[in-house]
Amino acid sequence: MAEKHKPAPMVDEVSDFEILEVAVRELAIEKGLFSADDHRRWTEYMNTLGPAPAAHLVAKAWLDPEFKKLAVEDGVKASLEVGIDWINSMPTNFGTPSDYCNLRVLEDTPKLKHVVVCTLCSCYPRPILGQSPEWYRTPNYRRRLVRWPRQVLAEFGLQLPADVEIRVEDSNQKSRFVVLPVRPEGTEGWSEDQLAEIATRDCLIGVALPKPGVTANAKLPVHPAVNPVDHDH
Ligand code: FE
Repeated sequence: MAEKHKPAPMVDEVSDFEILEVAVRELAIEKGLFSADDHRRWTEYMNTLGPAPAAHLVAKAWLDPEFKKLAVEDGVKASLEVGIDWINSMPTNFGTPSDYCNLRVLEDTPKLKHVVVCTLCSCYPRPILGQSPEWYRTPNYRRRLVRWPRQVLAEFGLQLPADVEIRVEDSNQKSRFVVLPVRPEGTEGWSEDQLAEIATRDCLIGVALPKPGVTANAKLPVHPAVNPVDHDH
C-alpha cells in the first residue's frame, strides 16, 4: 500500500530534450558560434513575444482587401506592416539562415478551414505569434490532428459543419503559418485594435474561430484520470 502512495517529486524530471539542449548550447558557446550573452539576449527577447503582431496582421487584412491580397501572396512582406522583418532584423543580427522563415498566411473561407500543426516537432512562427501553447507541442495534438482533424477541432469546442473542408498545414523549420479566419459577423465598423483583440492566438493557429466578445483563449477543462497510469511499473 505504501508503495502506491509515494510522495510526488519536488521538481519535474528533466527531459531528454532539455539535456540535449544544454549540451548543444554549451558546445556552441565553447566553439564560439555564439556567446553566453548572445544566448541570454535571445532568450529574453523570446520571452517578450506575444501574438499581437499576427493579430494585427489579420485585423489589417479584414479591413483592407489590398493588404489581404498582399498577406496571402507574400506573408513575409506583409509582416513588415506589423513590425516583423523576417529577413533583416531578427534580434541575433547574425544574418544566419536560421533567422529566416517563410511565413505564409492561410486564408479561410466559409467552406474552408485551415489549422496548423508541426507533426515533427513544434515549429511555430514565434516572432509574430509568441511562444506556442503547451498543447501545440504535445505528441497527442501532433499525431491526432493530421489523422482526425474534425474530431480534434471538436475537442477544442470548434464543431464544423460536414461541408466545411479542413486543411491541416504541417510546419517545418522554414515554412510556418498564420491562419486568416473569416471576419465574423457583428464586427461591422470596428477599428483595427478592436478586431485584433478577437484574433486570439487559438484563432491564428486555427483551432478556434473569432467571435465578438471573445478576447481570450478558452481554457480546456482538465479532467483528472480516474485510473492514473502507474509510472513505476
Ligand atoms: Fe517543428
